Amino acid sequence: MDFRPDPTLEAFRETVRVFLRDNLPQDLVQTKIAMVSPRDATVRWQRILNGKGWGAPYWAERHGGTGWSVEEQLIFDEECALAGAPSLEGFAQKLLGPVLNQFATPEQWQAHVPAILAGERHWCQGFSEPGSGSDLASLRTRAECRGDRYIVNGQKIWTSYAHRADWIFLLARTNAEVKKQAGISFLLIDMKTPGITVRPIISIDGQHHLNEVFFDEVEVPVGNLIGEEGMGWSITKFLLNNEHASTADLPILKAYLARMKKMSRSITVGMAAMARQADFAVQIARFETELKALAMMVRRSAALHGDQGHFAHALGSMLKLRATDLQQRMTVFMVEMLGDDGPLVDPVEGDGITSEMFFRRASTIYGGTNEVQRGIVAKLMFGL
Ligand SMILES: Cc1cc2nc3c(=O)[nH]c(=O)nc-3n(C[C@H](O)[C@H](O)[C@H](O)COP(=O)(O)OP(=O)(O)OC[C@H]3O[C@@H](n4cnc5c(N)ncnc54)[C@H](O)[C@@H]3O)c2cc1C
Repeated sequence: MDFRPDPTLEAFRETVRVFLRDNLPQDLVQTKIAMVSPRDATVRWQRILNGKGWGAPYWAERHGGTGWSVEEQLIFDEECALAGAPSLEGFAQKLLGPVLNQFATPEQWQAHVPAILAGERHWCQGFSEPGSGSDLASLRTRAECRGDRYIVNGQKIWTSYAHRADWIFLLARTNAEVKKQAGISFLLIDMKTPGITVRPIISIDGQHHLNEVFFDEVEVPVGNLIGEEGMGWSITKFLLNNEHASTADLPILKAYLARMKKMSRSITVGMAAMARQADFAVQIARFETELKALAMMVRRSAALHGDQGHFAHALGSMLKLRATDLQQRMTVFMVEMLGDDGPLVDPVEGDGITSEMFFRRASTIYGGTNEVQRGIVAKLMFGL
């Protein structure tokens, strides 16, 4: 494939940059990288993007999206991260939205998509359970059909942002008699339904992103089932395939590099800025080189979008492995740049690098653990 800069994409990048320069309000600019924005900031930003017709940057035009290619989506994400734009509601935009566009009935689509595009309905993802993370198909939360309702009982864990979500998209077992993958269904549940309890899990970065969610005789209208009963596993595979292009978190890595360079100019060691000292400069250059190589892998993956072949699948796993390794090393290096007092001078409310470093310890776990990704690469590429 041709890795030379593409003039059309560069022109697109410039369009996005100009838009951000002219339309991103200063009070919405966030200094912390990769932070999930407060809800009101997400809603305001969503409305600004709607005004430009960019409210659904990852969806096809026929579903009300921009119709951008995967490469254009990545450029949009990169420029937004570099400008410090608020995050969009990622669960709805990147995961659930494409599922609704593909599998929802017109009534279901109408019930949820306009609210997503207005930025008013926030979602969380209820897949993992205690004992069912990597082996997701073994999940035990049950949904039993009784007349016009499902009665849901069970527990989810590591549910990011369940405490601020309005709705959850949930995998539940509707049939225990068939092969485990075939007995799973995909349900949408209003988090205000009686019987749902959310308990916080405070992670190593000191923040509350994660939760346990308990379901005790929760009544869900049968109309909230997406697709048919037992289709949950294939819907999940579709949902996870859509994640491939963003697996590498390239926009975040580019924002790390920019932050690192800025720090190297402002922090002095002895008499000189770090940027002027060979050891630091060489290390930063190495990160930049690794990032360029990763960006080429991402372009290759984007070019293979929709390809169901072994290599395309293995490339998604390889990207996850390379990118999470870089995320961890770059954030550790930035904390080290702050010197002996680094972890102390940068508490959660500082510029966030220490908490970012702690958060990224989890990057080799979420989105499928790195051990599992290595297994996938070994199987697909080497037949092991
Ligand atoms: C920050 C964070 C956010 C998350 N957000 C969500 C969310 O919003 N919604 C949601 O549903 N889930 C979420 N998760 C859960 C995440 O998907 C699971 O943690 C992950 O799939 C691993 O599952 P587990 O924790 O049960 O570990 P296990 O699957 O029990 O794994 C334990 C260890 O065994 C290894 N292992 C397991 N199977 C294999 C294998 N086949 N080959 C080699 N090694 C193996 C793993 O690599 C790991 O080291 C989140 C997790 C984190 C850390």
